[in-house]
Amino acid sequence: MPSRVLPGLFTLTGALCALAAPALAEDETKALLKELSNAAGPPGYEEAVRAIMVREFKPFGPVSYDGLGSVIVENGASGPKIMLDAHMDELGGETRRVTTDGFVTMQMLGGWLDEALPGQRWVIIGSKGPVRAVSIIRDVHVTPPEERAKPFNRDQLFLDLGARSAGDVAALGVEPGDPVVPDSSFDELNGSGRYIGKAWDDRVGCAVVIEALKRLAAQGHPNQLFVAATTQEEIGLRGAHTAAEIIRPDIGIAIEGGMAGDQPGTHPDETNGRLGGGPDIFLYDSSALPNRRLVKLLRSVASDKGLPVQLDLVQGYGDDSAEMQKAGGGAPTVNIGVPVRYMHVHNGVMDRKDFDATVDLVVDLIQHMDAGTVSQIRDFTPAGN
Ligand SMILES: [Zn+2]
Repeated sequence: MPSRVLPGLFTLTGALCALAAPALAEDETKALLKELSNAAGPPGYEEAVRAIMVREFKPFGPVSYDGLGSVIVENGASGPKIMLDAHMDELGGETRRVTTDGFVTMQMLGGWLDEALPGQRWVIIGSKGPVRAVSIIRDVHVTPPEERAKPFNRDQLFLDLGARSAGDVAALGVEPGDPVVPDSSFDELNGSGRYIGKAWDDRVGCAVVIEALKRLAAQGHPNQLFVAATTQEEIGLRGAHTAAEIIRPDIGIAIEGGMAGDQPGTHPDETNGRLGGGPDIFLYDSSALPNRRLVKLLRSVASDKGLPVQLDLVQGYGDDSAEMQKAGGGAPTVNIGVPVRYMHVHNGVMDRKDFDATVDLVVDLIQHMDAGTVSQIRDFTPAGN
């Protein structure tokens, strides 16, 4: 049919095709990042993310679990034990109290800024399925001028479920203790190769370890590789502790949402990370110091491969490497971040180029490790002894 007769039909047909087959329009890696970002997984309720990780891990080796729900896949039967880690949980909350008029208060889980909480959409995972909610916010028309610039306090946080009574809330299948996550969906920002979504901390790491595992399994590596997807990182690195206790790694590598501070309004000493600047190697955070020989190896691997890396020191940031480095008598570790802007809020931004470079770097690093390299990294004997 000629387009001049019914131009609208062609637009509609195109739109329907796009709706029917999104996977064909997107590359597989982008589809994986989208699936992981959209999955709900607050601390202690990582089920949806765990299902994805198990599906992706299974083809590459035996899958096991620790007692807190972390998933471990093993690839490679001999050589040093390398633990490659990303955490599955995201910032979220739990419903706490239902008021008589049908509002619900929330216990926050993870490091939320109070100012990120009001006026947002949320999903509660109730006993009858997902329940949508919006956090209340005061209307400017009734707020006295002197109170308009006041910071929000989380004690004033209530969720509005559209309910008129506590009975309505119960009928929706919501009670105290139900998991809550931000309601926010993946998108690409205007064809920029920059992706918005929730939970890049640490779903971007989950995607890195999956892609790295696929390539390492296909190309080979001289190690016993344990890839761990851990739980409850945001409330104290708990799953990393239990997983590392089982694995007792010789070397630990954490993959995280890294910091990007190249948006307006940041202090230059907050972070050295920029979006698009490549993987962020953490030289300091409040939970861990990396092993210096491991960092040296990482930097030489990156330079041989022509991969850009960023060196970062971040206060007020913890990561799973802190638990890996204390397991089994101690292990050299490093934390590598894919830079993310606006990490602990509803909409973070990451750059696809940083993701691809991080996968390249992790694959190359693990291929460069073997019994000799690992024993050199682990050797603290002073010269002449
Ligand atoms: Zn994280």
